[in-house]
Amino acid sequence: MKKIYTCIICPRSCELEADILPDGQVSVSGNGCPRGAEWIRNELSDPKRTIASSVLVEGGEKEIVSVRLSSPVPLRMIFPIMDEIRRVSAKAPVSIGDIIIRDVLSSGADVIATSSVLAKKE
Ligand code: SF4
Repeated sequence: MKKIYTCIICPRSCELEADILPDGQVSVSGNGCPRGAEWIRNELSDPKRTIASSVLVEGGEKEIVSVRLSSPVPLRMIFPIMDEIRRVSAKAPVSIGDIIIRDVLSSGADVIATSSVLAKKE
C-alpha cells in the first residue's frame, strides 16, 4: 500500500512515497536525504510529538508560565500528559529551563519552563 507524505524535517518539504511491503518493511522514495526516510519510518511505526502549553504559577507576578516537553513522546501519551500538566502548579519564582515535572508519566521527557515568572512583591 503506497501513501504520499510531506516531510516536515526541513524547509525543502520533500514529497515522500512510502510503500508498506507485505513483510512490514517500509520502502521510501522521493526523500532528498536519509533523514526523511527515517522520519517516515518512525512516523508509521511509532509516531512522536511534542507539546507546548502553560502551567499555573502560585505567588507569581504572572498567573501562568509557558512550558514545553524536553523531547518528543509517543502520540498516545499526548492527552494524558496534557491532563497532568493541567493538574500541576509551580511556585514562583520560575526561571527558564526549570523542570516543572520530571519524567512526566514515565515518558522520559521533562516538562520545562520556557519563560520566567518573578515572585509577586508583597
Ligand atoms: S527528506 Fe531530507 S531534504 Fe527532504 S524535506 Fe526531509 S529532511 Fe529535508
